[in-house]
Amino acid sequence: MSNGRNTKQKQLILSILKEADRPLSINEIYSKTVCEIPKIAKSTIYRNIDAMLNQNMIEKYYLNDNEIFYSFKKDKNNHTHFIICEDCKKVYNLPDCPLKELENSIEAEGFIIKDHQLQITGICKNCASNYK
Ligand SMILES: [Zn+2]
Ligand SMILES: [Zn+2]
Repeated sequence: MSNGRNTKQKQLILSILKEADRPLSINEIYSKTVCEIPKIAKSTIYRNIDAMLNQNMIEKYYLNDNEIFYSFKKDKNNHTHFIICEDCKKVYNLPDCPLKELENSIEAEGFIIKDHQLQITGICKNCASNYK
């Protein structure tokens, strides 16, 4: 059973995340969604986001002191981590997931891993020059 309105909302949120070059917070997703669907409620966005997380279509990140951000998952078997500059708030991708080997060894012990988060806080190269 698919309901046309729900599908439209979901497609819109998904395309917003796809077009973004960095993870977006709920507020950012909301302000972009509202341009297209003015009457959309924030709870509707949360519901769609939850559904997409369950379907492994998007990823969740904790950045900026545990503010939650979401991004489109290009490759279901792979994912990216991000670091956000505390000064200019610019988001940088980490080259690779450094936790794979660790996860493998934990899984070898019979643990079922569902998700992981990696949070590194800091200041980017451009802003760091102000600290010297
Ligand atoms: Zn910076
Ligand atoms: Zn990872």
